[in-house]
Amino acid sequence: MEPPTKRVLVARPHGYCAGVDRAVRTVEKALETYGPPIYVRKQIVHNRHVVETLEARGAVFVEENDEVPEGAVVVFSAHGVAPEVHASAAARALKTIDATCPLVTKVHNEARRFAAADYDILLIGHQGHEEVIGTTGQAPERIHVIDGPQDVSDVTVRDPAKVAWLSQTTLSVDETTQTVELLRQRFPLLTSPPSDDICYATQNRQQAVKQIAPSCDVVIVVGSRNSSNSVRLVEVALDAGARAAHLIDFAHEIDDAWLADAGTVGLTAGASVPEVLVEDTLAWLVERGFTDVTAVAGARETTVFALPQEARVSRG
Ligand code: SF4
Repeated sequence: MEPPTKRVLVARPHGYCAGVDRAVRTVEKALETYGPPIYVRKQIVHNRHVVETLEARGAVFVEENDEVPEGAVVVFSAHGVAPEVHASAAARALKTIDATCPLVTKVHNEARRFAAADYDILLIGHQGHEEVIGTTGQAPERIHVIDGPQDVSDVTVRDPAKVAWLSQTTLSVDETTQTVELLRQRFPLLTSPPSDDICYATQNRQQAVKQIAPSCDVVIVVGSRNSSNSVRLVEVALDAGARAAHLIDFAHEIDDAWLADAGTVGLTAGASVPEVLVEDTLAWLVERGFTDVTAVAGARETTVFALPQEARVSRG
């Protein structure tokens, strides 16, 4: 008897979102306009391949502005920065190009609006993540970080009638809903943001992996360990019924043992992952006999963001 065909279900959408695409194009444009080196504060997006490719073209990644020579060009990453980062750049006369994703900027604006109205803000997100640091910096005296349901019982606010919640853009939709429910039990007058903070790309990729996970023996998520939305895809795949799920940066990191008894492998990628890495992974699977490849389509994405104003100039 012929062995059963081994198959791959490719979740769509996967990979690059509009904010990551914009951030990477911003660094490329800066390299073109000003020539290397171009300094980038923090990883422009959380993906090893992207960072290494830009480094090879002359981008220099630094942790803080004080590592950038006075007067040089510095790009701020897609995750956003606190106002003090802009201030320290100005103090060094740096030419700044801010590649903060517009959907992160939207959360910054919400934080400032709630703070101006004298609310305490419960920011659901991962303590220490760059985006959370940047958002907290918009109103540090008003924001309390809620790093999951376990933090709900401990938080103290000045007035329980003036409390609002916001969230990091790349969380698990389901887990965040649970945390908000718990917050609402403690603070019945809790105010919600005007629209979802978890961005369209995070939601669509989680929804797409949920569609395929129940049919998968193993789901491979292409993405880096420091990429919040990629790590969430592994968790969402497991919660949705995948027997196993693994995060890899590159195809060669796949352990053959993961596939030993697998008939169906799911494939997806975080929002900071270029398509070439997904293609490499698919080719790796096809070489190992997973030749029946089906794309499982979810939401259609049409969002495109224009480059930051400061990156649109040509050097005259
Ligand atoms: S994951 Fe969402 S918030 Fe983050 S860069 Fe992409 S579109 Fe923007």
